[in-house]
This record gives sequence, C-alpha cells and structure tokens, in this order.
Amino acid sequence: MGKETATIIRVPISTPTLPPHTTTNCYLIGNDKESILVDAGYDLPETKIELEKAIKENGLAIPKFIIITHAHRDHAPGVRQLIDWNPVVYCHEYEKQAVEKAISPWNAISFLHDGDIMNIAGEEITFLHAPGHTAGQLNIYLPSQQILVAGDNIVAEGTSWIGPPDGDMTDYIRTLERLKQLKLKKIAPGHGDWVLNPYEQIEFVIKRRYFRENQIKELLDKHHKLTAAELTEMIYEKLPHPSVIEVAKRTTEAHLMKLVKEGTVKVEHSVYSLLNVNL
Ligand SMILES: [Zn+2]
Repeated sequence: MGKETATIIRVPISTPTLPPHTTTNCYLIGNDKESILVDAGYDLPETKIELEKAIKENGLAIPKFIIITHAHRDHAPGVRQLIDWNPVVYCHEYEKQAVEKAISPWNAISFLHDGDIMNIAGEEITFLHAPGHTAGQLNIYLPSQQILVAGDNIVAEGTSWIGPPDGDMTDYIRTLERLKQLKLKKIAPGHGDWVLNPYEQIEFVIKRRYFRENQIKELLDKHHKLTAAELTEMIYEKLPHPSVIEVAKRTTEAHLMKLVKEGTVKVEHSVYSLLNVNL
C-alpha cells in the first residue's frame, strides 16, 4: 500500500556534545517508493540504528540522497555510517570543502543552488541558500506542506551560534528576513522539537540579535573605545562557563563585523569605536 504524498519525519539523533544541544535532528522525507534524508548526525553507530528504525516504522524507502544543511560535526559526518545505502550527498557549493572533509572517504557529492527543485515522492522540494550560521547553509522548503527545514538557522533547543570564521551576522539577519517571507505552517529546526509558531520564532531571533547589537552600540557610545573582549565582559556581566567565553567573544565579534560593514563602527588595531554617535 503506497502513499501518494511524501511524509516528513523528524528523527532526533543523540549527540555527545554538552547540553543544551542533546540531540541533532535528521529528517526523512518521502514514501515507500523513494525518500531522502536531510542531515546525517554524528559519526556514531547509533545514527544508523536510529535512522533505520524510523525508516522501518514509517514504511519508507531507504534514502537515495542525503542533503547536508551544513558541514558541522553534528550534521554531516554521520554519512560515514550510512554508506551501505550508497547515497549521493548534496550540499551547497560554499560548503564543499568542509563537507568533503566531514564525510571522507565517502565522496559521492553533488551540489545544490538557491532555487533548485527536486521532486521526491510527488513532493516538490525547493532548496534555499540561507547563509548565516555557515556560509553554505542550505535550507529546504516543502511548499505543499508549508514546512521549512531550517538547519541551524532556527533551533528549538539552545541558541544557534553565529560567529567567525563560519558564521556571518549580516547574512544571518538577511536570511531570517527572507525566511519570514515564506508561507509557513511549521519549521523543522536543526535541534529540538517542531516549531509550530514559525513567524513568532523567527521574529524572536531577529529581535534578540538587534537587542545585542544596540547594547554594543550603547556601550561603545559610553566608553568610546573597546576591544571585543572588553565588550563581551560588559555584555555578560556574570560571565558564563569558561568553555563558552570564547564562543561569547566570537558572537560579539560577529556583531561588530556587521556594524563595521554597515559603517556604524570602525576598528583600529582590534579596538572598536562608533563612527556615528547618533544611536
Ligand atoms: Zn551547526
């Protein structure tokens, strides 16, 4: 008994990272005749066990393609566990080198571009180049179901991290503004449960980023010249766990780079100051 339309199944794969990211979502899209997998989780045997269990329970065909939203170690290297499927792996070309490294020695890789369409199990799937978290982040949109598979652009557990060298705050905000224009019933996030209030969630993330940006501008207005490390200390009065200080600093840098690009802030010898004091 074959289903005519594609179903989309969220499969949270256990990850050995520190909380709050306790699982990474992989998504199976298809029916009993054909299917694809979006993201492959960690390079651990559990990845294959959990995915094959979900494939069986939902009566899906073994995926012929694996779409990688980005090369990070909790999203791409699980491909190595799935090579019996003989999959063709797709990613955006900006993510090419990182994905090649993440899934090596498997090398059946092909590329997708913004606006590409794939027909799987009667479902027209649209691919979006959605940079921000990484330069080659790929998002997937299912128009007939109004579902967006957002990779780490939107997460429902923790916060998606945007910072150099992989991330770019200017791109990220632009991507979120673009995603907000889609017709959405729900978002399939990179981590955590389905997001059932897509517009509120995207708006919440945009607002939070602008809140931080304004805070940086106010601190520069008050103190005139600050380094990224000094700003980070002022932003996080009670500094988080030492393991995340570097991450916090790079997030501050990502905001500063955006402000420098926009001509609001200048940087000399790693010291930042406001160019225009009208906040
Ligand atoms: Zn990531």
